Amino acid sequence: MILEVLKYPDPRLRRKAMPVESVTEELRALAQDMLETMYAERGIGLASIQVGVEKQLLVIDIRPMAEGDRYDLSNMTELEKQVTMPLVIFNPKITKKEGKTTYEEGCLSLPGYYETVQRFDTIEVEGLDLDNQLMSLKLDGLLAICMQHEMDHLDGKVFLDRLSPIKSARLKSKIKKFGYPKKDEDNQDEDSSVTNEI
Ligand code: ZN
Repeated sequence: MILEVLKYPDPRLRRKAMPVESVTEELRALAQDMLETMYAERGIGLASIQVGVEKQLLVIDIRPMAEGDRYDLSNMTELEKQVTMPLVIFNPKITKKEGKTTYEEGCLSLPGYYETVQRFDTIEVEGLDLDNQLMSLKLDGLLAICMQHEMDHLDGKVFLDRLSPIKSARLKSKIKKFGYPKKDEDNQDEDSSVTNEI
């Protein structure tokens, strides 16, 4: 089932997600709906807070699509290739972080807007998988960036909170003035449909 993705400045995006006690059948179904929603919106990550659910759950799939529905894994890092995708993780927690990197981030909750955000370059993350087992991952590249972006959502933050006050104010006023692109217009333009919105 495709869920509605909340758009900034919806106040529900400011809520903090609570840890899950254990991964139930209901939570597995929610993860499935979130994956469906993420693919339908052509995003590479989605956090439960973005669909109005305050449970610590996020889904990620950064595999780039090649021609004809195949995945093109050639530009992925060695660490990224080791992670089974789609990645579904409950109660994610960063246990180690190293280095700095920047990336022009977009977000399904602020569609059509992109800004350069600084993140840790390499991180180690622990959490629960769909079978309620502890998982630990070492991530870098886009996958590490995406994980940090999604974990911000679980903490009630969006990427504009990571910008300088001036850039953040400028982006907020742009959104107020121009709003978000209409979905139908988006689909007519093939080039603009390929995004890295998380
Ligand atoms: Zn986002």
